[in-house]
Order: sequence, then C-alpha cells, then structure tokens
Amino acid sequence: MARMQLSNYEVVIGLEIHVQLLTASKMFCACAVQFGAPPNTLICPVCLGLPGSLPVLNRKAVDLGLRTAAALGCTVHPVSRFHRKNYYYPDLPKNYQITQYQYKVHPPLATDGVLALEPEGDRFIRIRRVHLEEDTGRLVHVEQGGRAVASLIDYNRSGVPLMEIVTEPDLRSPSGARRFLGRLRSVLQAIEVSSGRLEEGTLRCDANVSLRVPGGELGTRTEVKNMNSLRSVERALAYEADRQARALAGGERVVQQTMHWDERRGVTFASRFKEEAQDYRYFPEPDLPPLAIDPAAVDLTRAALPELPDAKRRRYMDRYGLTPYDAAAVTGSAAAAAFFEDVIRLYPRPKVVSNWLTGDVAAYLNASGKELEDLPVTPPHVAELLDLVERGTISGRTAKEILPEMLERGERAQTIVSRRGLLQISDEGDVARVVDDVIRGQPGPVSDYRAGKQQALTFLVGQVMRKTQGRANPELVNRLLREKLR
Ligand code: ADP
Ligand code: MG
Ligand code: ZN
Repeated sequence: MARMQLSNYEVVIGLEIHVQLLTASKMFCACAVQFGAPPNTLICPVCLGLPGSLPVLNRKAVDLGLRTAAALGCTVHPVSRFHRKNYYYPDLPKNYQITQYQYKVHPPLATDGVLALEPEGDRFIRIRRVHLEEDTGRLVHVEQGGRAVASLIDYNRSGVPLMEIVTEPDLRSPSGARRFLGRLRSVLQAIEVSSGRLEEGTLRCDANVSLRVPGGELGTRTEVKNMNSLRSVERALAYEADRQARALAGGERVVQQTMHWDERRGVTFASRFKEEAQDYRYFPEPDLPPLAIDPAAVDLTRAALPELPDAKRRRYMDRYGLTPYDAAAVTGSAAAAAFFEDVIRLYPRPKVVSNWLTGDVAAYLNASGKELEDLPVTPPHVAELLDLVERGTISGRTAKEILPEMLERGERAQTIVSRRGLLQISDEGDVARVVDDVIRGQPGPVSDYRAGKQQALTFLVGQVMRKTQGRANPELVNRLLREKLR
C-alpha cells in the first residue's frame, strides 16, 4: 500500500558527508589524532577552547582538501574564510565550532564539482561545496539497569580535522544514494584523504530527502542521521521516503526536521527541529587569517593525483581482460585494488586472481563483516595458494577449503596443507591403486560404462575422489579410469 503511494512521487536526495581526514594532528593544534587512546589524553588548551589559546591551521588538512577538490573537479577559491558556528552542547567546549561556511561574500575552500553516478555513465551528481572544519568531542552515555545514569565526555576527538562534502539534491533513489556514497568513498580512499569507514565514523553521511511530483518543485525535506553502513543509508532513506509518502497520502505535511535512524528497529524517528542558519550567529573567526590558496598549488595537486577508481577500472578491463563487473568489484575499494595488483605481480594471471577476490574472498568478507585490510592475510599468501593449485600440489577444492583459515588466521597455505595432510595425490602409482580398488568394487557402473554410458565414468571418478578425501588429481583420475576400462 505504502509502495503504491510512493510511486506517485519522485524521491529527491542530497547528501552531506563528513570525512575524517588522514592527518597526524588536529585541525588547529598539535594534539595527535589517534583512535582508541585513553579518554582526555589527547588534549590541549586550543582544542579545549581555553581562553587565550590561539588556533593554527593544519597544512596537511588543507592539502587533503585540495586533493579532494581536484579529484571531484571543483573550483578552488583563492581566498576562503573560517567562521564560528555558535551553539552550546557539552561535547563542544568552546561553545562554537570553527567551520568554513558559505557566508555571503566568503566562499568555502571549493565549490561546483561533479562525480558520475556510474562508471562511464552520463548521470552526474553535482558537488555543491567542499569545506574544512573541526570535529566535536564524544559523549558516552552510561547505562545501569537499562537507565541512563551519567554522560561522560571524551575530548580526544575535539578539534580532529573534518572535511564536509555537500551534494546538490541530484540523487533520485535510496539505492542510487548508496552507490554514490560507495563511489565517493572509493575516490577518497584512492587519494588517501580518508579511511572512509562508516562503521567507525571516519565517514559520516547525513541524508536529506524529500518527495515531489516528478519534475515539479522541490518538496520539504527531512535530514536523516546516524547511519553506520552503506546498507543502512539505503535502508534509512527507503524507510523515510515511504514515511513521507504515507504522511502526504494522509493529508499531512512533511515537517522539516532531523530524523534519527534506528538500525535495530529499522525505523526513523524525529529528534529535533532543524535550526536555521541565522540561529548559529556565524561570524568570521577572528583568530585565523583568511586562507589564501596559490592557484599554482591547485595545478600541482591536480597533476599529482593518483589514478582514480574509474580510470583504474578501465585499465583493468583493457590491460587484464577483466569483465566490467569484476573490474568494478576489484576497484571498489582502494585496499582491494592494491591487494589485487600485489598478487598479480607474484602470480601473473589477473583473471584467476580476480575470480578468487570477487568470489571466495568477497564471500568470506561478506559473511564475516570484515574489510580486506583488517585480515592478517597478505598478497604473497594468496599468490602462494594459487601457485600451489597451478602446480598441482593441491586441488582447487582443497584451496577453497583452506582459504577461510588463511584469511582468518593469516596462516600460510603451505603450513595448513602440511599440517592437515592435504597434498594433492599426483603420483600415478598411488592414484592407480585407488582406481583399481574402485573398479574392483563397482562392477555395475563399470559394465555400464563399457556399454557406452558416459555418466558411469563421472560416478567412478567421484568414488576415487571420495576414497582420497578429494585429494586425487582429477585429470589423472580421469585418464587412468579411461585407460583401465578401455
Ligand atoms: P543546511 O546547511 O541547512 O544543511 P543546505 O542548503 O546546505 O542546508 O543543504 C543540505 C543538503 O540538503 C544538500 O545536500 C542539498 O542537496 C540537500 N537538499 C536541499 N533541499 C533539498 C530537498 N528539497 N530535498 C532533498 N534534499 C535537499
Ligand atoms: Mg547541513
Ligand atoms: Zn589540542
């Protein structure tokens, strides 16, 4: 019922993406950026907002912002400014956040970029702006017996460099929003600007969504927060679009407000009414000079960009003969692409390597919810496994069987194979003895085969494999059976 209502409308989505930048220190002070340090150990007067402390802009953060602007084809503004965004919240000790807000005459670091929605497609999502700002501290709510009894504050995250990327409302479906975010993430990883992990909050996405009559004026939007994976971005948006459709169908209006996504229940709920820009009393940060960017630096940055995922995908298709699907899968994350290239340097059969990565390895990652870069396995380990198969030391079946163990524990294939006695039996005499056994023990299928029934051979091969726990070399088994039954 709700689906039918939704189909009368066009879904309109614009994303605000916060990216934690890969810098060693914070945005305006020398405190280290480090995940998992004891609470309130990475702090100083600047990031605590103590009176009299002065911020100094982090050069590396600016470079990473420029790299992003270049990769997204943005215009970099020769002069931008930082502003104070004023509001009170316990995780914000200064009572204001330093951010680059497009405030009348002061543009942010960069504006007007694009990213194609599909590789080589003709749908482009416009990037409205890219700007730099600082993160807030982290509140930890303590529960006892299901009741919130206290809130603790960790200021280690306070002042950590963030970049905000805002799209125009150019996305038209929850699944499109998910794909776009995945593509943006792979660009950010390729240019080494961010680790891009939604699960760990180094990439955060607020999604604005509204409905309209197709081609009509934009409707009132809500902003959905708190999605911790690409999958939940899609789910949350689908739920929220549906909720708006039901409201409109019931004669209600959509209220502009912030919605929270509840992953466990699979619903969004209203949390607060959205402030208007003027509520924040933005004004230029008096302790920081305007940020001037040399146009030559922008050109240099552009020239020094590494290969972006779409170009990489093309190259994998042209040079390695991968299918569009496999090439997209292998270049979907920077870590996967680097892993792929490292393996094929040692084991130069790109198609075989991509089949393993997009097949068994991807299946393991999916099932375990892990990322390739979290695994103890290294490219030489995988190359060694494929080599063992190629040389006939182990069967393809054995390789599939031991792969999860390798991925889980970082153990080498050789080691697992020796420990578990999984060497392929390729010695002709050894296989012949088992083949003779099977022929003796299966007179029925043997005479079937001799009478011309081909399937009987498949059955006999299966019997030999069973007796050897799948370790007999299949080609050898086939040949010996045919010879002996002739
Ligand atoms: P704010 O600064 O209040 O968050 P912005 O103008 O920066 O508002 O817009 C935030 C995001 O909302 C942008 O990504 C934009 O594309 C998106 N957006 C704006 N209007 C709509 C709308 N009617 N429907 C969906 N998304 C919208
Ligand atoms: Mg906003
Ligand atoms: Zn500090």
